[in-house]
Amino acid sequence: MRLSRYFLPIMRETPKEAEIVSHRLMVRAGMMRQEAAGIYAFLPLGLRVLRKIEQIVREEQDRSGAIELLMPTIQSADLWRESGRYEAYGKEMLRIEDRHEREMLYGPTNEEMITDIFRAYVRSYKDLPLNLYHIQWKFRDEVRPRFGLMRGREFLMKDAYSFDIDQAGAQHSYNKMFVAYLRTFARMGLKSIPMRADTGPIGGNLSHEFIILASTGESEVFCHKDYLDMAVPGADVNFDDAGAMQTIVDQWTSQYAATSDMHDAAAYGLVPVDKQVSARGIEVGHIFYFGTKYSAPMKAVVAGPDGKEVAVHGGSYGIGPSRLVAAIIEASHDDAGIVWPEPVAPFKVALLNLKQGGAETDAACEQLYRDLSAKGVDVLYDDRDERAGGKFATADLIGVPWQVLVGPKGLAEGKVEVKKRADGTREQMSAAAAVDLLTR
Ligand code: ATP
Ligand code: MG
Repeated sequence: MRLSRYFLPIMRETPKEAEIVSHRLMVRAGMMRQEAAGIYAFLPLGLRVLRKIEQIVREEQDRSGAIELLMPTIQSADLWRESGRYEAYGKEMLRIEDRHEREMLYGPTNEEMITDIFRAYVRSYKDLPLNLYHIQWKFRDEVRPRFGLMRGREFLMKDAYSFDIDQAGAQHSYNKMFVAYLRTFARMGLKSIPMRADTGPIGGNLSHEFIILASTGESEVFCHKDYLDMAVPGADVNFDDAGAMQTIVDQWTSQYAATSDMHDAAAYGLVPVDKQVSARGIEVGHIFYFGTKYSAPMKAVVAGPDGKEVAVHGGSYGIGPSRLVAAIIEASHDDAGIVWPEPVAPFKVALLNLKQGGAETDAACEQLYRDLSAKGVDVLYDDRDERAGGKFATADLIGVPWQVLVGPKGLAEGKVEVKKRADGTREQMSAAAAVDLLTR
């Protein structure tokens, strides 16, 4: 992408409504724009990151055996009356009336709809287990939308729903999502810690929140330090092996970890003092097992092995991709701007022409741009007619992992400079060596 032809509305000023660093940086870097309280437009740079995050989420859901579908944002109120949640959900639900005066709503979550889909087709235990997910916008009329994408009213969610014949099956389904979540967040460069959670309005009796530590997090959390160094399961982990899944979950729940809602000061007191971590955290994912909470009232039943009908056991599993964009910035930035972990970066390389209009620098940049693009590297080529200082500041602000600086001095010696955004280290090398390094 040539920056001269891109849409990257960088802002010099720090927006005053932005209270936390991720919100400030996202607005300054031209990633998003507020359209109404808690409602944002994703500008091109922000959208690139959101898509990368979504794709990692999707790949790990698929790997665990979950199947993607896409449900609508608008739902019928009648479905929610069946579960009893239409009244219970309260003011967070955005209620809408269509031209025929039918009551509709903008979905805050999809347990009812997926249960309706399930009961329309699935009749036998032989079709289980089943886990269906989608990545779709949600609306919750939060009392205090704030912190930009962190707590929006309209936000993107990956929500998965599992169906099993009994509790043992449901536990395996729960464990698979637990492991998939560990992998998902690790791939984004985050250390997530599963913490025992309250089951809240969704109900049920087994629940974990996946929390990343950040000073601006909304939750107060307490955990054992060992979580910060625990090894995340590899890509070859066998999700079908119920025993292996349980072993991983047991390991990841063996030490103390709780948000303030579930905090038990006495139990925490048993953690050696030098291992106690008391911090703030951001909830990036949340998983629940809720048994027959929806299947019983909504009659989502299947024939069991003995021919008798049983209500299926369910769980639901959420991740907030739009919140993650902000959460990753909270976890990874410095004074100059964002520092994207490579897997979620909007571009891999920023190519900076330090003398736009100079015959040598232009030719070298064009060549590098072509060579890198041809090898599938996402390059943002800063070909604007601007001084070098402005280009450095923009590249640092938007946080692209690698910068290639092309200036007349270096070129005279046949060299370009490659800078690593994360640690600021720079190295001089030939253009060919740079292409080599960046396509490794
Ligand atoms: P919170 O406790 O932060 O209000 P929640 O428990 O209501 O969240 P869940 O129903 O568990 O949220 O939703 C699943 C995931 O969706 C959360 O883990 C979070 O990543 C994301 N999410 C929830 N609410 C919001 C929001 N208002 N803005 C952005 N992301 C959200
Ligand atoms: Mg939650």
